[in-house]
Amino acid sequence: MTKIPFLDLVTPHIELQMEVLDLTRRVLTTAGFVGGPLVEEFEAAFAAFCGTRFCVGVGSGTDALRFALLAAGVGAGEAVVTVPNTFIATTEAISQAGATPEFVDVDERTCNMSVAKLEEFLETRCVRDPATGALHSRRTGKKVTAVLPVHLYGQMAEMDPILKLAEGHNLIVIEDACQAHGAEYLSKRLGRWCKAGSMGRAAAFSFYPGKNLGACGEAGAVTTNDEALARQVRMLRDHGQAKKYHHQIEGFNGRLDALQAGILSIKLKHLTGWNAQRRQAAFRYTQLFSDHSANVVLPYEASWSKAAYHLYVIRHHDRDELRNALAQQGIDTGIHYPIPLHLQQAYSSAGYKPGDFPICESIAGEIVSLPMFPTLSVEQQKRVVEQIAFYAVKHSEAMAL
Ligand SMILES: *Cc1c(COP(=O)(O)O)cnc(C)c1O
Repeated sequence: MTKIPFLDLVTPHIELQMEVLDLTRRVLTTAGFVGGPLVEEFEAAFAAFCGTRFCVGVGSGTDALRFALLAAGVGAGEAVVTVPNTFIATTEAISQAGATPEFVDVDERTCNMSVAKLEEFLETRCVRDPATGALHSRRTGKKVTAVLPVHLYGQMAEMDPILKLAEGHNLIVIEDACQAHGAEYLSKRLGRWCKAGSMGRAAAFSFYPGKNLGACGEAGAVTTNDEALARQVRMLRDHGQAKKYHHQIEGFNGRLDALQAGILSIKLKHLTGWNAQRRQAAFRYTQLFSDHSANVVLPYEASWSKAAYHLYVIRHHDRDELRNALAQQGIDTGIHYPIPLHLQQAYSSAGYKPGDFPICESIAGEIVSLPMFPTLSVEQQKRVVEQIAFYAVKHSEAMAL
């Protein structure tokens, strides 16, 4: 029995080995290890890819989120609205910027921020200060200043209505695009397809190795069309200095190193092709599932979305047993994410309880991420789907007994 990995990080790097080795020699001989021309080249190329004026390379996706929030002016005593079914980096960044996360539930089909729930939060779970006109969360009293939608699994959140609601309430929108490099959204307002990272005031990307565009280590970036915000992120990543040893503010050590930037430039040239392969693999899964009655809920892609399929996530009511059955057949799967953030121990002092975000909670118990990477083969996908269908039949027979 050959194993089917969840993710193949080896093959693409073997294919690019020579280019990466040449780059490594270039970096070693110039000893320009942090910042410099390789970082600037990558920043320009990634801004062009996203369709934004600026890109600032930073140390990780978490840095990117934190710096984007801080540079947009989010800070102490404020609240940022996001979703509970994301990686904890989203809310860590909010807290580390000095603000407090406020959650809204997600859409059952896309698993992304529900526009209806965002509207409900702003209209019924907040009060307006009559003196200042500012919006305050009833739960915490904090002033709501930003919305942070997450483009989960590589599919963009419903940006038009989110931006409209935010505008109406004077809120900043920062995109968590850490899973969505190259994803697109058909904006009715703008009358065109827009890339992830180009629609909010700023956006955060992660280049953690397993992402659609991944470094060989830690890396991230902020994209924006706002020149002042880009300048602020450049200072934040480098100890608050625009000029060496002239510190305008206290910042962080959150720079992108040259080797990672060079590797990202090499890999960026393949990203469109890799994303196309991911989309093809996703359609193939969907097609293969339609030939079987596997009793699963498949990912939903709306007509306004071109997802980058960072993950292919299905739902099954007996998820844990299904995962065990697949593991016994050598098929690796994942769960993104098993415990919603509002129920994590880290947020126990916030006073949330089960039932607060019921859609997110029910999804968390049923989701399973199937193997997904550009070189996933038809044979591998057939085996995955056949095993799931076989499990479903056995399972329903067992239930009938
Ligand atoms: C990966 C990820 C992050 C964090 O990125 P790092 O580079 O690991 O810091 C943040 N948000 C989401 C949704 C992610 O998937």
